[in-house]
Amino acid sequence: CGIVGYIGKDEAQPILLSGLGKLEYRGYDSAGIAVCNGELITVKKSEGRLAVLENQLQNAPLHGSIGIGHTRWATHGRPSNENSHPHTDQSGKFAVVHNGIIENYLDIKEELSAKGVRFTSETDTEVIAHLLADLWDGSLVSTVQKAIKKMRGAYALGVVSEYEPDKLVAVRLASPLIIGVGENGNFIGSDIPALIEYTRDIYILEDGEMAVLTADGVTLMDAMTGKMISRELFHVDWDL
Ligand code: GLU
Repeated sequence: CGIVGYIGKDEAQPILLSGLGKLEYRGYDSAGIAVCNGELITVKKSEGRLAVLENQLQNAPLHGSIGIGHTRWATHGRPSNENSHPHTDQSGKFAVVHNGIIENYLDIKEELSAKGVRFTSETDTEVIAHLLADLWDGSLVSTVQKAIKKMRGAYALGVVSEYEPDKLVAVRLASPLIIGVGENGNFIGSDIPALIEYTRDIYILEDGEMAVLTADGVTLMDAMTGKMISRELFHVDWDL
């Protein structure tokens, strides 16, 4: 039900947890984060309150300056540790957070299962991670583009990959997602309160658009065609 993401110079974990805290009002049944240290992605996720996840991370913090986080409101698959986001592919090269519903996930699941892919959750979301691994073509942007062409439904997505640990890719279709541009890095979030502690300069992503974030820049494009989009930053000048 809520998404946050960060790529920049600072440690990602505290930013992700603080952002998820600001999204708690939306309601959720589980929470999780994935952090990449420039080489490897590590996922920590848990059913229950954000505090449960925070306690687990307190003893074993994840270090790295790129990451994605999620609070889940289950639509497909009961609330459980396995069904919590982020979801990964079998190799652990891709991590995905998703709000919304992938309507044709059973078809995709069947297709991938026939190729020998083993699923570890009951969610619609997990197919996205495996789809990315299956479609991997050497470029994160074009692989995400290929994946969303196979997906029907509603989604706000945050994707990171060990193949390109200097990027965070976000896409939206019929689920809210905004991009924050900061001095020490760039952000994604479901809404403004999740980001305002870090930046007041945002892009509001529209349906069918993709954002590619690096530590020092953000590029917006049409998610299907890859055509660049130029947009003015929106400055949030009110207080919450
Ligand atoms: N459909 C996904 C799930 O059930 C995402 C739900 C959400 O938006 O939190 O895992």
